[in-house]
Amino acid sequence: MAEHLNNQTNIPLPEERLENVEGWGMSSTAVSYVYRPVNCDGIQEAFDAARHSGRSVGLRGAGRSYGDASLNAENVTLDLTRMRRILKWDPETGVIRVETGVSIQQLWQYTIEDGWWPHVVSGTMFPTLGGAAAMNIHGKNNWKAGPIGDHILAFDILLPSGELKHCSRTGNSELFHAAIGGFGMLGVITELTLQLKKVHSGLLKVEAIGVRNFQDLFDLFESRLPVSDYLVGWIDCFASGDALGRGQVHQANYLEPGEDTHPVQSLRVEHQELPDSLFGVVPKSVMWRLMKPFVNDSGMQAINFAKSLSASTISHGQTHTQSHAGFAFLLDYVPNWKHAYKPGGLIQYQSFVPKESAQAVFSEQLKLAQSYGVVPYLGVFKRHRPDNFLMTHAVDGYSLALDFAVTPEKKGALLSLTAEMDRLVLEAEGRFYFAKDSALHRSSALEALGRERISKFLALKQECDPENILQTNLYRRLFAE
Ligand SMILES: Cc1cc2nc3c(=O)[nH]c(=O)nc-3n(C[C@H](O)[C@H](O)[C@H](O)COP(=O)(O)OP(=O)(O)OC[C@H]3O[C@@H](n4cnc5c(N)ncnc54)[C@H](O)[C@@H]3O)c2cc1C
Repeated sequence: MAEHLNNQTNIPLPEERLENVEGWGMSSTAVSYVYRPVNCDGIQEAFDAARHSGRSVGLRGAGRSYGDASLNAENVTLDLTRMRRILKWDPETGVIRVETGVSIQQLWQYTIEDGWWPHVVSGTMFPTLGGAAAMNIHGKNNWKAGPIGDHILAFDILLPSGELKHCSRTGNSELFHAAIGGFGMLGVITELTLQLKKVHSGLLKVEAIGVRNFQDLFDLFESRLPVSDYLVGWIDCFASGDALGRGQVHQANYLEPGEDTHPVQSLRVEHQELPDSLFGVVPKSVMWRLMKPFVNDSGMQAINFAKSLSASTISHGQTHTQSHAGFAFLLDYVPNWKHAYKPGGLIQYQSFVPKESAQAVFSEQLKLAQSYGVVPYLGVFKRHRPDNFLMTHAVDGYSLALDFAVTPEKKGALLSLTAEMDRLVLEAEGRFYFAKDSALHRSSALEALGRERISKFLALKQECDPENILQTNLYRRLFAE
């Protein structure tokens, strides 16, 4: 039952609504009463039902957060994916108004043929825009474009009381800057208006560059930032000694008007689609089964080594073109690849560290992981800039996202490791990201964000949600009194 709920009459919720709900990494699950409204009336009905049964309500988009951010065990989950209408589109200005169950995929597929692409997308195209706003997602261009919140012009938020508030930078500005990144704790964002980016081709110019170690990686990033539109690093987390931090960087740039001689063709949705099969033979739907035998330490070490080897043979300056979707959504190439991590699933640990200390912290994190014998199978490196949203996770620095397999033998070591890594991040005044988090402790969240920021957020929550009906497992783990 939810804490602090008043007016409860304990009318039981229908058992047929009970479902097992998973975090994307499959290592956090919860049994929950799931409601799937199609409009604000439906949302209100779910709130009323929860209220009358003395239970809390957790919001959920496409469930693409890795941990427990969209889980609400033994309480109500409001799945908002059926609210997915595109309400207004202006191909002259690139301004779109949508219901927030619209996914990033639905968005770009709707607008690209008019020459518009979202300023900010995540590494997967399946999140909803509500989930993206509530976590204030970042892309491979965060140092340049900021988070998605920087491109949201306005939104409507439905408070648990039934009041609908319109928020923008000029009206209800405090709520605007707190609900974006507010992980669904202030109200349901029901509609939003987003500014898209004009593109003159469906293609990007892409260059892959091998890096020998962390020093090389940081030097390359610093030198390429001023001339890149996107920059992302992949790290072989098994490499050690002088090769610690080795990997590959991908730089991508938009094409200038006129550079693509057939933009009408390259902007067509069909030319953006990811391939249906591997080498034209293996259907995408079964690819994860082929990955399964490699999802263990020796298999992953071999794959990372082979990838590093191929990266070292690429000569600098060689570019190729790739579609926007092909470059942005690499992680969607193999559907359900996460199933190769079954049965324990995976967690992602992403920390954000100011640029002065990032190299030292990330080097130490990888050395620690190796010494614990819990090596991440994937490491992704990005550059960030600060933003002015209340619960921001960004810093003027870098992030390293590490994917760890969760197995019964290694679970204990993994928890000790993440706690040690947290300490390094906190000492460097870094941040964590709730969309990825599964293991953070309440005291670390408090230290990272600071008492003042959290008190301000909780005061706003008290104003918007005096019954404290909006809750999730993550909220209870990190913030509930
Ligand atoms: C393979 C993969 C790659 C990823 N890459 C990136 C990346 O590059 N950058 C990045 O920033 N993130 C990335 N993510 C994380 C993902 O973008 C976020 O977790 C995003 O929030 C998921 O959106 P969702 O619709 O699935 O929301 P959910 O995960 O279902 O919910 C996320 C949060 O939003 C709240 N919420 C949902 N809908 C609403 C609403 N309408 N109003 C208010 N609150 C709401 C929920 O309560 C929850 O707290 C990645 C995830 C995966 C699985």
